[in-house]
Amino acid sequence: RAKKEGGGRVCLFDATLDAQVRERRMLESDLRTAINRGDIVLHYQPVMSARTGMVSSVEALARWEHETRGPISPEVFIALAEDSGLIDELGRKLIFRACSDMLAMPETMRVAVNLSPQQFKSGELVSTVREALKRTGLAPNRLQLEVTERLVIENTQETFAQLEELRSLGIQILMDDFGVGHSSLSYFQMFPFDKVKIDKSFIADIETSKTARAIVEAVIGLGRQLSMGIVAEGVECQEQNAVLSELGCTHLQGYFFSRPMPLEEIAQFVAKNAHAVPLPLAPPRRAR
Ligand code: C2E
Ligand code: MG
Ligand code: MG
Ligand code: MG
Repeated sequence: RAKKEGGGRVCLFDATLDAQVRERRMLESDLRTAINRGDIVLHYQPVMSARTGMVSSVEALARWEHETRGPISPEVFIALAEDSGLIDELGRKLIFRACSDMLAMPETMRVAVNLSPQQFKSGELVSTVREALKRTGLAPNRLQLEVTERLVIENTQETFAQLEELRSLGIQILMDDFGVGHSSLSYFQMFPFDKVKIDKSFIADIETSKTARAIVEAVIGLGRQLSMGIVAEGVECQEQNAVLSELGCTHLQGYFFSRPMPLEEIAQFVAKNAHAVPLPLAPPRRAR
C-alpha cells in the first residue's frame, strides 16, 4: 500500500520512523549504561505534616542527567526502563540506595520509594526489599512504598499477596496519584492503604474549580472513615496550603515547601525541620 502511494512522502515518513526507532534504541542503550554505572541518582522531596508543619517523610525521585542531552524526565526513562526490561534492575538499585541514604537522616524520618507495576511481576520484589532492609539495617517502619492504580487495576491475587507481605513487615503502602486514570473506590476494599496521595492536578485547581475541591473533600472524608492519611501533592503556594490544611489533609508536599533535592541538601533541611518523636514500631492494624 505504501508503495502505491509512491513518492517522497512515504520515504520521508519511513525515514522519520526509522530515526525515531534508532533514537529510542540509543537512549535505551544509554540508560542501560547509566544504570550499570550508578548514574541514576535519587533526589528527595520533603512531605510535611499538616498538624505540626514539620517534615514527616521524604519521597525519593529518580534523576538522570544524560551526558549530552542533559536532564531526562523520570516519566520518560522509567517508561523506557519498563518497556526494555530494565526496571527490575533499576528498581532494585533505587530501593537499596533509598534505604542506605536514610541512614544519613534522623531515625524519625521515613522514605517513600515509587514502584512500577512491573516490579511486582518477577516475584522478587518482597525478597529484594527484605534484603535491602537487612543489609542497610533500616527499620521497616521507616520505609514507604508508593504504587499507583496502574498496579491495582490488574487486581491479581499475586499483587495483593505481595502488598500484604510488605505491609506485614511494617512497611507503609501508599496509593499515589489518586483521582486520575481509572481510580476506583473499590481499591480501598481490596487493600488497606496507609495513605492516599491526591494527584496534583486537583490541587492545582483547588481554588478555582468547585469540582476539584469537592473531589478533594470526598477523598479526605474517605481517608477519615478508613483511617488513611491523606497527602496533597503539588502544593505550590500558601493559598493552596491553607485551603488543604483547613479541609483536613494530613500531609502536604510541593514546591511551596521545597523542590526535590540531593541527599546532602535534604539531610540539612530535615535536620532543621524534623520531628523528634519516635515512629510507632509498626503501622496500626485496622479493622476491616
Ligand atoms: P510522582 O511519584 O507522583 O512524583 C511527584 C512528581 O511531582 C515529581 O515529579 C515531583 O518532582 C513533582 N512535584 C513535586 N511538587 C510539585 C509541585 O509543587 N508542582 C509540580 N508541578 N510538580 C511537583 P518527577 O520527579 O518529575 O517524577 C515524575 C514521576 O516519575 C513520579 O510521579 C513517578 O511516577 C515517576 N518516578 C520518579 N522516580 C521514580 C522511581 O524511582 N521509580 C518509579 N517507578 N517511578 C518514579
Ligand atoms: Mg510518588
Ligand atoms: Mg504522585
Ligand atoms: Mg505522578
